[in-house]
Amino acid sequence: MSTSGKASGVRELLARIGQREPEMVLLVQKFVEIESPTHSKKAVDSLGHALAEEFARMGAQITFHRQLRFGNHLQASFKASDDGRPAILLLGHMDTVWDLGTLRSMPSRVADGRVWGPGVLDMKAGIVQMIFALRALRDTHGHLPGNVDVLIVTDEEVGSGSSRPVTESLARKSDVVFVLEPSQGLAGALKTARKGVGDYTVKVSGKASHAGVDFRAGASAITELAYQIGVIEKFTNLKRGLTVNPGVISGGTRSNVVAAAAEVEVDVRIQTLADGTLVEKKFRSLKPHNRRCTLEVSGGINRPPLERSPQIAAWFGVARKLAQEMGWKLQEASTGGGSDGNFTAALGIPTLDGLGGVGEGPHAANESVLIHELPRRSALLAGLIASV
Ligand SMILES: [Zn+2]
Repeated sequence: MSTSGKASGVRELLARIGQREPEMVLLVQKFVEIESPTHSKKAVDSLGHALAEEFARMGAQITFHRQLRFGNHLQASFKASDDGRPAILLLGHMDTVWDLGTLRSMPSRVADGRVWGPGVLDMKAGIVQMIFALRALRDTHGHLPGNVDVLIVTDEEVGSGSSRPVTESLARKSDVVFVLEPSQGLAGALKTARKGVGDYTVKVSGKASHAGVDFRAGASAITELAYQIGVIEKFTNLKRGLTVNPGVISGGTRSNVVAAAAEVEVDVRIQTLADGTLVEKKFRSLKPHNRRCTLEVSGGINRPPLERSPQIAAWFGVARKLAQEMGWKLQEASTGGGSDGNFTAALGIPTLDGLGGVGEGPHAANESVLIHELPRRSALLAGLIASV
């Protein structure tokens, strides 16, 4: 990364992008109006085509990573030099948590200095900021300062199972990854640490019997499950940021039947990979309290944590300096929520996350982004790309 003390030129980039704020708003609205719930492949692919058009117009080479169940993941590659260095990966997702037809009750609109609508913050505004950052760099320098790969995946909201290999293979070839997920809070903090996420299911099999006639012949899966939940709950260690939440339970058939089966679904959040290993071991070594019951544990950690490495801290320092040049004090934050940045950071690739829109209400009815933040967030990204 560039460590020279001279001005980065980010103010020039901001001036250029600032003039295009109305265009940015229109493009954000255009993308919001193409609804893209994760499970509607056709809808997501429509948005993918609209996005590909924008990147193709800017000279990118377009690759669709074809999927059967989900929309095709979009890769837009800009080649700047022959040796392939530096290589920058810009990461985003085009799917949203909002069903088709949401626009009828939650239309895309501009009011109170914000753009409102489903998916506007998470994360269509971030994609627009990406597009205008790349345009401004090209218009200023005539080319991009490095090879830039843009990857916009289609299954982030359901855990990124199909896109993870693509994300990881592009990240391995990159020097740095910038993630355009929403920033934290109205202050727009970057996310320099994210918890890792796991899901476990513990199934108990007992033995059914008549609760009145033959009580002792039964082995209650529910009583056993209640005991196990007490054990699992103690895995939580708030000081270490390790939380274990038994979120869903089910079991039994009738109140007068000793329950033959019961299960619990557990959400796990970890701050370090080591805690992931620890919690995995603890789940796998659960033992039945009632020996007539059996346990079956499935699941695991599916997103490693994004740990604030020295490299990530250094990149945050670069971002903070760029923001300072533009006259604002950039903050950093940690969050319990995961993103695709978790995968790239776990590979040891410096990853700066939360570079996207500033607003409120991701996944909520008040989802919105602040319009005046669009140009400077975009300029910040452009400045970061120019610093690699
Ligand atoms: Zn998101």
